[in-house]
This record gives sequence, structure tokens and C-alpha cells, in this order.
Amino acid sequence: MHPPRELSTPLAPAPWQRTALGANLLAPDGGLGVTIFEEMTTLAVQTGAINLGQGFPDEDGPLEIREAARAAIAAGANQYAPGKGIPALREAVAAHQERFYGLTPDPATEVIITTGATEGIAASLLAFAGPGDEVLTFEPFYDSYGAVIGLTGATHVTVPLAAPDFMPDLSALASAFSDRTRVVLLNNPHNPTGAVFPRAVLQRVVDLAAKHGSIIVTDEVYEHLTFGVAHVPVATLPGAAGNTITISSAGKTFSLTGWKVGWLTGPEDLVAAVRTVKQFLTYSSGTPFQSAIAMGLGQPDAFFHGIAATLEKKRDILSAGLRDAGFDVFTPRGTYFVNVDTAPLGITDALDLARRLPALVGVAAIPVPVFCHPEGAERTRSLLRFAFCKKAGVLEEAAARLATLRGRL
Ligand code: PMP
Ligand code: GLN
Repeated sequence: MHPPRELSTPLAPAPWQRTALGANLLAPDGGLGVTIFEEMTTLAVQTGAINLGQGFPDEDGPLEIREAARAAIAAGANQYAPGKGIPALREAVAAHQERFYGLTPDPATEVIITTGATEGIAASLLAFAGPGDEVLTFEPFYDSYGAVIGLTGATHVTVPLAAPDFMPDLSALASAFSDRTRVVLLNNPHNPTGAVFPRAVLQRVVDLAAKHGSIIVTDEVYEHLTFGVAHVPVATLPGAAGNTITISSAGKTFSLTGWKVGWLTGPEDLVAAVRTVKQFLTYSSGTPFQSAIAMGLGQPDAFFHGIAATLEKKRDILSAGLRDAGFDVFTPRGTYFVNVDTAPLGITDALDLARRLPALVGVAAIPVPVFCHPEGAERTRSLLRFAFCKKAGVLEEAAARLATLRGRL
């Protein structure tokens, strides 16, 4: 342990921490806190609970991809990759976009590799938005969005998504836009709600962005995890390609969330602006992992279709268990996550329940209000998010434990 430092003034929260989402990172004693994912994972480890909080699979991705990383290390791919990513991966990303969506980004100028989607999101927002600008997202929103918008100094404007289907009201969407809307940050399929937005909603966003001169940044990390609906990349819609940055990553598609290999594609001028920022965030990203994911992106179509089919069965196992436990279950069309309303069990505060749940029944989950500003948190007060990217037996055990909750409250 280091002795406490003598500071002339106490370490004050940085400006971005005074934004609404940044406040979620303040520990109850006012000190610096951790993200909800870290808090709940730590709690799950401490209590030995089944962790259906943080979204990571409990089975590693394909062996041949892991072996490719090992081989790349053995072959000496251990020094800095080019800042924009190794050519093989940029080419593989471009080929993937063409194979699945008919998009044809130029791997030399319209693709960059990032350290996970998280860096792509941060670099894009820092490249495009600043004080005086507005960044528009749906709400609830993935936690890093609020924090990074805070870092840029822009104002975070949101449009609510309400249960049961978590679709936006299109007139509320139109009125949330203004001539200060610099960026619309979309996420489809959507974390935490599991919503997959239909073409009509996406087209409305594209049209409004064109009208207001906004850039679209779209986070599509769950692109291959949709159930019974096709993923429609925003960039394929009429009027979108010229002002859209599309972000994805290997974490979800290949069950390799710890590798943190991401990428983004878009028109050359926007990609160049993001790349300028990216080079001062991480400069470049893990060389041997890039080469392994380049190989992974070349997997046959059946691999990509199989991921969703396996996951859909897991969704159904957990959803049935949650229903039996007495929750209202909102069936997701995509992602790793299913949301429930805990109100039928008489619960009014999902954050409080999430903190008690591991000790109560041995299961961890994520409260939805943490993905919201205060007003949205009020609207989603009793909602909990469960991850189903776990082995079937683990989900069955979690369901059995949750079935005992009613008697323990
Ligand atoms: N965006 C969304 C919507 C996510 O759910 C996640 C986390 N899985 C990320 C971005 C982060 O992706 P990565 O681990 O590739 O940085
Ligand atoms: N994306 C993961 C989730 O939503 C968490 C990743 C993280 O811990 N930042 O659960």
C-alpha cells in the first residue's frame, strides 16, 4: 500500500464526471467508482453467484482462431501494427462488409482497426463532437456512450425507448434533433434492451440526420446476433453511406470479448478524422489478435448463421426461467440480453435488487436505470438486464435459483 498522498486540494471529479452518466461512476462516498459491469462482476465473484451481469460468453470462440493468434505470436507478429491496422484485417473487414451487406469500403482508406468497438466509439465522438454540439442517442444507452459524450464536452440528448418493444416514438425522435445535432450515435441491435430497429426507424434517423447535417455513428457489435430478423446496417440505407461511420468488433461475433479487436468503416474523410484521434488514444491495436481475426472473418456463412441459432436457444431457456420466476419478460430480437420488469414481484428499485440478488439467490444481473439519465432511470426503475450468453446448463441453474426469489423477498 502506498501512503496517502499529500494533495494541496482533494482530487476533485473531472468535468466529465459531473455529467449525468459520469455521476454513475462516483462511489457512494463521493470517490471514484467503477462501471456497473465491474461492480456486478466483482460482486458475483465474491458471492460465487452465476454472473448474468456483464455480457461475456462462458465458452471461448473457435479453436482455429485462437490457434491462429498463437501461431501469429510464434511467427513474430509481436511489435506495433500499423496505426490503421494490418492490411490483412482491413481487407477481411472490407470483404465481410461486401459478403454480408454489399458494402464495398476501400481497405486502404475506408477501414481502420480499433482496440475494441469501445475505442472506435470514443475516437469517433472525440473526432466529431465538442462543446456546444449535441449528440443524440436512444435511452437506455450503452454506458460508455454517456461517459464519452461527457469527455467530448458535448450535450447528450436522448430519445426514450419504452418497454415492451423498446421502439422510439418517431415524432419524439424528430423533435430531439436540432441544428446542433452533430452526431447521432445509434446502436443496433441495441444494448441493453435487445431491440432490433426496423428499416423504417433507421431510415427516419438517416433522413433526419441528412436534414440537420448530422454524422451517424452506428455501433453494430451485435450484427450477427439477431433472432428471426435480418440485421440491416444503417450504411446500406439510401442517403446514409456518405455520412455514416459503422463500428463493430470481434468480441461478440467470435466469443472473444477479451481480445478487444474492433473496426470501423465509412467514407474516407470521416475515417481519416477518426484515425487522427485513434492514433493518440492507443496508436495501434494487438498485432497477433488482428491477424487471427482476419482469418476468423473468413469463416464460411454457416459459422455466422450458427452463432445466432445457438444463442436463440439460450435466450429461450433463460426467458422461460425468468417468466417462471414471476418477472415480466421482454423478448429480445437480438444481442446477449433479455430485460425483465421486476414490478410483478413487488420490486420498485432494480438497482437495489441487483446489489442484493447475488447474496439472495446466487445470480447477478445489471439494473437498467444505470443506462439512463435521471428521468430515464425513473422510467426504467424496476427493469433488470440478464445476459444469456452462457452454457445451457448454467442458464437452467440460474433459472432454478431465480425461481426461489419470490419466497426470499
Ligand atoms: N457497444 C456495445 C453496444 C456493447 O454492448 C459493447 C460491449 N460488448 C461494446 C460496444 C464494446 O465492445 P468491445 O468489447 O469490442 O470494445
Ligand atoms: N458490453 C458488455 C455488457 O454490456 C460489458 C462490457 C464492459 O464491461 N464494458 O455487458
